[in-house]
Amino acid sequence: MEYEAVIGLEVHAQLQTRSKMFCRCSTQYAGAEPNTHICPVCAGFPGVLPVLNEYAVELAMRVGLALNCEIVSTNRFDRKHYPYPDLPKGYQISQYDLPLAVGGYLTIGHMGEERRIGIIRVHMEEDTGKLLHRRGDDGEVYSLLDLNRAGVPLLEIVSAPDLHSGAEARAYAQKLRQILRYIDASTGNMEEGALRVDANVSVRPRGSEELGPKVEIKNMNSFRSVERALDHEIARQLEVVRSGGRISQETRGWDEAAQVTLPQRRKEYADDYRYFPEPDLPPLVISDERRRQTQGNVAELPDARRDRLAEQYAISAYDAEVLTGSRDTADYFEAVVARLGDGVPPKLAANWITGDLFRLAKGEDGDLSGSKLSPDLMAELVGMVHGGEVNQGSARLLLEDAFRSGRSPRALARERGLLQVSDESQLSGAVRRAIEENPAAVEDYRGGKKQAIGFLIGQVMRQTRGTAKADVVRTLLERELAASD
Ligand SMILES: [Zn+2]
Repeated sequence: MEYEAVIGLEVHAQLQTRSKMFCRCSTQYAGAEPNTHICPVCAGFPGVLPVLNEYAVELAMRVGLALNCEIVSTNRFDRKHYPYPDLPKGYQISQYDLPLAVGGYLTIGHMGEERRIGIIRVHMEEDTGKLLHRRGDDGEVYSLLDLNRAGVPLLEIVSAPDLHSGAEARAYAQKLRQILRYIDASTGNMEEGALRVDANVSVRPRGSEELGPKVEIKNMNSFRSVERALDHEIARQLEVVRSGGRISQETRGWDEAAQVTLPQRRKEYADDYRYFPEPDLPPLVISDERRRQTQGNVAELPDARRDRLAEQYAISAYDAEVLTGSRDTADYFEAVVARLGDGVPPKLAANWITGDLFRLAKGEDGDLSGSKLSPDLMAELVGMVHGGEVNQGSARLLLEDAFRSGRSPRALARERGLLQVSDESQLSGAVRRAIEENPAAVEDYRGGKKQAIGFLIGQVMRQTRGTAKADVVRTLLERELAASD
């Protein structure tokens, strides 16, 4: 029997606000001492009242809109109860049956072969604290509690079970992060825990509509581990069902070192959480006016920008895709293009940015933030290449130099003697020497083997350390060889 895997992802993203979800404590606690960014509200003292962070709602709405969701006009906060030491109140303020946004999608894949992945819901909640387990001097293990993270605004984004492989799940998670970053909703940094991906995986006979028992996978700390963990889990489930076994509904964790999924604690069911409406917060009513305003704050999204760049600047679909990998890169490209001289094709700028500049920047998503090469300087270099002022090899050297020093490529070219020489009087000496020193090639050329001129051009280039302009050299050689015939 043919089987297929069915995957849905639950992604938690920290919203990029300055203060927490229900109090004024700062979210900038990275590197701070434990429990220095807390107050009675986020530390869960009795008798305090939460006050909703409106900017968190703005960011959450942007995400809902960017994911093509319907914004629920009257939604609500609920208490989700579970006893765990990192949860000081004994419950988390979340959203249950009336989430902020429902029924959207995002697209994965490349132009021409895109696929829509459904988004079931987007809801707001608060983050928990963090437990640290340390062994003391007496050899005992102590659990330490840091509440700096407690109350940081989180968004949970739940996909439909539309994904079928580890690679698709990875593509979905990466696309989601790209969108979150484009609209300034989240840093999406997985290594800092600002983006956490959990998955529900099951297998079923191909063509069947029913879902098999779901296994939840946790502890995937990078996009690569998302792909590997899910592929591993799919293979494990297929092996079980093909040998006549049954999959048990459970939670498994990805063990990065062993590259396997292992059983974790039993999954709580929704009933266990004893949800009820948060009595200290009124229902959240979103007016049409507010919705429209927020829509206006949603930046141009990656797919739209990719299509526009390809069209507007006549660059390839591939280049447009790469250049819109991050908003910073797309901004950089457009800033360079705006500074190009008349007649310099944007395509040339795209080639230099996606090729040599990316290689130098090397960062993930082609992050150019470490570069001292401003768009002005990049445009100058591209203009020099287009105008034939420097050859390709020299331009590479100049790019590297300017990338590190932030100096003008033209000034550097002058200093290093890399400007191409097209002045005939400066080149005629080298041309004559090439003819004198290579009688065999000259004889070949005059005997009708016209391609022998390539060898002579090479000799001139060598003498001039590559700075001679090849077409000028060719013309001079042809003239010289014809004259002394
Ligand atoms: Zn607080």
